[in-house]
Amino acid sequence: MPIVVQKFGGTSVADSQKILAAARKAVRAQQQGNQVVMVVSAMGKNTDTLISLANEINDRPPAREMDMLLSTGEQVSVALMAMAIDSLGYKATSLTGAQIGIKTDSSHTKARIQSISTDRIKALLDDGNIVIAAGFQGIDKNSNITTLGRGGSDTTAVSLAAVLEADQCEIYTDVDGIYTTDPRILPEACLVRQVSYDEMLELASLGAGVMHSRSVEFGKKFNVPIHVRSSLSDVPGSIIADNAETSGLAVSGAALTKDEALICVLDVPDVPGTILRIFEPIAEKKITVDMIVQNVADDGTTTISFTVPRQEADEAIESVKESIGELGGKLGLVDRDVSKVSVVGLGMAEQTGVANRMFKTLADADVNMEIITTSEIKISALVKRDKSLTALRGVHSEFGLDKIVASDAPQVPDRDKSAGPSMAEVIQSLNDEMGMEALIIDDISLDQTQSRITVSKIPNRPGAAAQLFDRVAASGVFVDMIVQSYASGQLADITFTMPRDQFDDALKVAEEVCKEFRAQRVESKRSIAKLSVSGVGLRSHTGVAIGVFKALAEAKINVEALNTSEVLVNVVVDGSEGEKGLKCLGVQFANSMRS
Ligand code: ASP
Ligand code: MG
Repeated sequence: MPIVVQKFGGTSVADSQKILAAARKAVRAQQQGNQVVMVVSAMGKNTDTLISLANEINDRPPAREMDMLLSTGEQVSVALMAMAIDSLGYKATSLTGAQIGIKTDSSHTKARIQSISTDRIKALLDDGNIVIAAGFQGIDKNSNITTLGRGGSDTTAVSLAAVLEADQCEIYTDVDGIYTTDPRILPEACLVRQVSYDEMLELASLGAGVMHSRSVEFGKKFNVPIHVRSSLSDVPGSIIADNAETSGLAVSGAALTKDEALICVLDVPDVPGTILRIFEPIAEKKITVDMIVQNVADDGTTTISFTVPRQEADEAIESVKESIGELGGKLGLVDRDVSKVSVVGLGMAEQTGVANRMFKTLADADVNMEIITTSEIKISALVKRDKSLTALRGVHSEFGLDKIVASDAPQVPDRDKSAGPSMAEVIQSLNDEMGMEALIIDDISLDQTQSRITVSKIPNRPGAAAQLFDRVAASGVFVDMIVQSYASGQLADITFTMPRDQFDDALKVAEEVCKEFRAQRVESKRSIAKLSVSGVGLRSHTGVAIGVFKALAEAKINVEALNTSEVLVNVVVDGSEGEKGLKCLGVQFANSMRS
């Protein structure tokens, strides 16, 4: 019999009526011939209430006790849900994470799942029960209760769907599905029926932040189609899956990360290991670095710009000051009033001119881009916070995202159970280091066909990047990576890469534009190597970029430019270092490679 996993978030179980409504949905799915597993969150804002209560008593509550406390929220809802189903005349059994056998590591309040046993759930299902699993919790090897981090019930649901080989995981929530952007920010956002795992990961905040990132990583790793839909109605929602039909649009979503801070480091020595020595201490402080851009600058130094959540800026600055005290270099601009605007789409990989369109749109709206990074399926620009809404609305409309007419219902693709690892393989990979949530590197690749151009110190004002890339595109050059960082004063550095046979044309244009802008100079290299590391879990395993930096530093390979995204880290090194770089990255990530 097919198994369906249905997850109900806090707002969907906020009171007894809602609990009964959720119970009826589960019963209906069972009557339609499915075995049903429900995963429920704590009622309403119960988790927030418990956290405030803890903080009233102790401003640094021990993490173990925090988990003991927070896990009770879900225990309340599973019991009530089982009573609701019983009241409707059907069989139900509630289970805590420990009772199911969801084993996690011991990082209290942010534990990762290592393994899940399915025996008890399967026996209960075979006995005709609807099984109700407490979301967000597990148990470590010493039988301590752990929780998976805020929003973690999604991750419980998708991981249960994975190990039970369910056909799909339904996420019931208070929105109708996934939108082209957060509808609370832009009311003209449109519902989309299909989105791929990678797009969803890149746009972690897409569609009102509906999903916990780690749950999407699970979906991708084990090929579980995720159906995000409303708990208030029966209308179909949106599917996150890989073989989802593409819309044919270059861009499928846009997003805003509102509270970022930009930190610029100038004049650091352009030698192997520099970035590692800046970012390793930051990572050790568990500060989440978002964008990282680096550019080749003048006279043997380099500029590095990066962003962190605004409230983590002070700590990051302290760390940078310590690093440059040893390394040399100086702290440049710090701007706490910036937001990140991104556009994402698988279609971008096949279409040219997407970056130009975004840059032009922002230029026309008089929005300056402080820094820029691109990946195969994402372009992000950092803008002043007071312009961020204008910027988002502009790109959202430029790419037609306000005019999408959603099809009647999403196509739920068959779960391709042969595509991911088999359950036997999964279970085999479960030991203490390599749990279900371990990082998986899918690919480490070397591209030796490109060249690099860096234009130093161009005006940092609206329209500059648009003008440069407009001209480059007009000359028929296909630009791959774009990295813009802050230089000094009102100036920016821009690096871009292109196929080597277009290098001469691109260089000519860059030199012309450089003159027109009175930019300082154009620096270039015909033979570069681009190394890319992609995989599942890069978002939640922030150590991946650090791992790349470490491997290259140890091999004494200098990084000339880099950009990062949720699913990919790209670095540019000298053309002669490509093979060596590929080898050392292979060694660095040997334990994480999907065989
Ligand atoms: N109740 C937990 C929280 O509020 C887990 C969840 O809802 O997903 O974060
Ligand atoms: Mg949630």
